Formats: sequence, C-alpha cells, structure tokens
Amino acid sequence: MHTALLLDMVAGSFPDRAALGPSAASVSYGELAERARAGAVTVEALGEGSLVFIGLNGPTLPVAVFAAGLLGRPFAPLNYRLVDEELRRLLARTAPSVAVVDDDMLARVAGVEGVTLLARSDFEAACLDPANRAGELAEVEPDIAVLLFTSGTTGEPKAAVLRHRHLAAYVISTVEFMGADEDEAALVSVPPYHIAGVSAVLTGVYGGRRVVHLPAFTPEAWVEAAVAEQITHAMVVPTMLGRVLDLLQARGETLPHLRALSYGGGRMPQPVIERALAMLPHVAFVNAYGLTETSSTIAVLGPDDHRRAIASDDPAVRRRLGSVGRPLHSLELEIRGPSGEPMPAGAAGEVWVRGEQISGEYLGRKLIRDDGWFPTNDSGWLDEEGYLFVEGRLDDVIVRGGENISPGEIEDVLRAHPSVRDVAVIGLPDEQWGERVAAVVVADPPVEAETLADWVRQRLRSTKTPQAFFFRPALPYNETGKLLRRALRAELAAPVPA
Ligand code: ATP
Repeated sequence: MHTALLLDMVAGSFPDRAALGPSAASVSYGELAERARAGAVTVEALGEGSLVFIGLNGPTLPVAVFAAGLLGRPFAPLNYRLVDEELRRLLARTAPSVAVVDDDMLARVAGVEGVTLLARSDFEAACLDPANRAGELAEVEPDIAVLLFTSGTTGEPKAAVLRHRHLAAYVISTVEFMGADEDEAALVSVPPYHIAGVSAVLTGVYGGRRVVHLPAFTPEAWVEAAVAEQITHAMVVPTMLGRVLDLLQARGETLPHLRALSYGGGRMPQPVIERALAMLPHVAFVNAYGLTETSSTIAVLGPDDHRRAIASDDPAVRRRLGSVGRPLHSLELEIRGPSGEPMPAGAAGEVWVRGEQISGEYLGRKLIRDDGWFPTNDSGWLDEEGYLFVEGRLDDVIVRGGENISPGEIEDVLRAHPSVRDVAVIGLPDEQWGERVAAVVVADPPVEAETLADWVRQRLRSTKTPQAFFFRPALPYNETGKLLRRALRAELAAPVPA
C-alpha cells in the first residue's frame, strides 16, 4: 500500500475538513491533496531522484511528504542544524535529488553535485499554480517512501530506508482511519528530519486531525500554541516534557483542552512522568517506544497502564511507569541473549522485533534477518506480564568485570536525590575491571560526591555505585532530546593534559 493513498482516502471522504495549520488559516484535506499533486508535478519537471527537504517544520512538510509519495520517490528530510559541511555531505549522499530548501538556508547547500535546489517559497508558489495542479502524473509502483538519516548518536548517521509498505503497516495498525472528532488538533514540535516528525504527519492525516506544526520547539511556543489552538493531542520527547511542565507550573496553566500526550524517542525519567500525571490528571499519557528502522512505535504504555501504575502500592505495578509498555499487537517482540537465544522474563538481553512495519534496512546495508527478525541494539527485559523495560543502547551498557550494568537504573536512583537536576551514567575505561561506573551530575544545590555514592549504595548492589562523580552545569543533548553519552565518554576518558 502506498502512503499517498492514505491522504487520498481522507481527502476523498472529507475534503473540507481542516488538515493543516492554525484554525484561523487552515488548509483543508482537499487542498492538501491538490498541493501535494502540484508539488509532485513541479518536482518531476526539475529533475530525478529523492525529494529532499531542508527546513523548519510547517505545512510545507506534509505537502512535500505526499508529493514524494505520488512520484514514487524517496522523501529525505535532512537536519538543518548540522554544520554546513555535514549537511552538504548528507545532501551529497541523496544525489541525484531535488531539494526543497528554506530560502535562508539555500546558500548553505549551494553547488552540491547532482542536487537541484528549489527555494521553499518557490515550491509553495508552484503548489498553488493552476497549471501545476492540472498536470498529469504517471502511476508509480510504491517502493522507498522515506530515507531518514538517524541522529548519529552512536556513529556516522545511517540512512534508514523505509518503504511504503512499512509506513502504511505502522499507520494502519496504530491509528483508526478518520477516527478523530472534527475538533481534534495535533501539535507537532518534533523536528521534520526525525522519524517522529514524519510519522506525526502520516498518523495525523490518516486519523483526520488538524496538524499544527511548531517551526521549532521552545516551551513558551509550545504552551502558547497549545492554548491558542486548543490542541487536543501532542507528542514530545522527554526533555521537552520536563521544560513544558516547569513553564505550566510557573504560569499556573493546566491545558484543559489537551486530551492525550504521547512521549518517546528516549528514556523518560520516572519522576518527570509522575509529575506530569499529577499536574495534568485529565490527560491520557502514552509512552511510545520505537526506532527509525522500525517505522517508529513498536511498544506502547497506554493511558490505563499509566493510571493503574501511579495508583498502585504494588512495586511491580508501580515501576511499570518506567517501562515502555507492551508490544503492538501487529508485531512480535523477544528478548534474546548474545547467541540469539530467547531470554526468560526478568532477564536482560537485546530487544528483537518482527513485523510488517520493520525495515531494518539502510542504504547499502541490511540488519534485518532473512526470517524477518530485527535486532534493535537496545538492551531490555520483559516482566511477567510482558511489559518491556528498555535500558538503552547495548553500546551504552557498562561491562564491569564481566557484569552488565545498565546506566538507566543508576540514573533513576540518582535523579531521585533532591540535589540532582540531571544525570548521565557512563562507563569509563578501567585497567582492572575493563570499565568503571562514572556519573556526570548537574546538582543544585551542590552536593558531595560521597553523599551521592552513599545514596546509591543504600539502594543498589555495590557494584552499581559510581566510582567517579563529575559535576557539570548542564549535560549535552541533541535537539531530539537524546543524551550524547558518546560525547561525555570521549571527554571524560581523554587523558588529562599534563
Ligand atoms: P543512531 O541510530 O544514529 O545512533 P538514534 O539513536 O537517535 O540515532 P533513533 O532511531 O532516533 O536513532 O532512536 C531510537 C532509539 O531511541 C531506540 O533504539 C531507543 O534506544 C531510544 N528510544 C526511543 N523511544 C524510547 C522510549 N519511549 N523509551 C526509551 N527509549 C526510547
């Protein structure tokens, strides 16, 4: 199935329903379909290859996503925050291609071989041009829908290949077709070059919601848009949620229109979600876990799970607030050991997944197995009732004298200390043990390392007590809220200059 068909279905059934933008100046589903078609005609006349998008979030993003779909070409959004040299390097990897670029970013990417540039304002004008709207498009076989460069937190960005069948399977298995009431509006503040930004467009459209984009996230812009646009649904990464809660508290704002808030993209600290549940009791919270290579969400902790966990005195139920819930019904998920053997409940291993939405393929490389199973490179375990606890990337697991230590568990314990504002636990090279546990802490008010060591010692096995503490004013995150552990490790493992 072709993702452009998703739009056709909605536009065909409800052409006048608001699809994009603020309520005062919204674009209807019928109009979105027209613009996408005109955009496809425009791009086809310009050149071959992928349709690249370099720019801020906004209504142009969905138009470009569906234009690429109609042409049967990959849609490749690139991260405009990269330094020029990296951005140009990624752009060169998409050649031949046609790139729709924000006008003020054009100079940054001029002259890359095999790439035809089109200013965003010219693309937008072309989508309104009656001649383009009347243009003919050939029928195409659905193939690659999206080429997404992962954020590269574990190395050079990989170009994940998502085919139409993967994305359509994901959308159809997670969203009810046109299930939304007419007044539902979704706020998209995740960047356009991330799988969450692309999947928000597809699920918002298939669900029949009005999709409101924030050009870029700030807590102020998010809260103001949520209030002004009476946003009912939104998706955030964990760092965004913490900042939004601080602002809501400062302003005494409770977002009465907000019905559902999903979060994901990284580990949610349990104190943050507990605070969110207390501050916004009318909101249905959803933790969505997934990877770019799995067309986003593969497991979900739903609103009822949140409510049950927060109300429970049973520690096994309560701690599910720190889980990512259960796998989607449409796929299989297993925990496997180093030789691929299935692990019993409670035992940690690698998360493996199989299903129609799983791509597991990159340009020039495939990690999906012939039998359809894909090893995610995430470490995790399942509890007795099948709730999945994700501990983070396998590469981040600390191996100390043969014992595997998950940073997340130690971070949760440290985060519960009243002085700890933020924390990262990493492994540093150690001659005797291979790796030693180190904690990088943002503390306010200041606290002694020994006090924190005691705090952990009282709550976890002694091998998990950090042997070194470093204090920093802030931790490095990328713009999708991922902690850059690699950068911290590189900084702290480097020999101290004499
Ligand atoms: P790269 O693969 O280049 O290192 P990346 O890690 O940013 O980049 P993504 O596909 O954006 O790639 O991130 C997927 C990872 O994010 C998952 O493997 C998992 O570790 C983490 N993650 C995503 N959602 C959640 C969640 N709800 N809870 C915990 N971790 C999550």
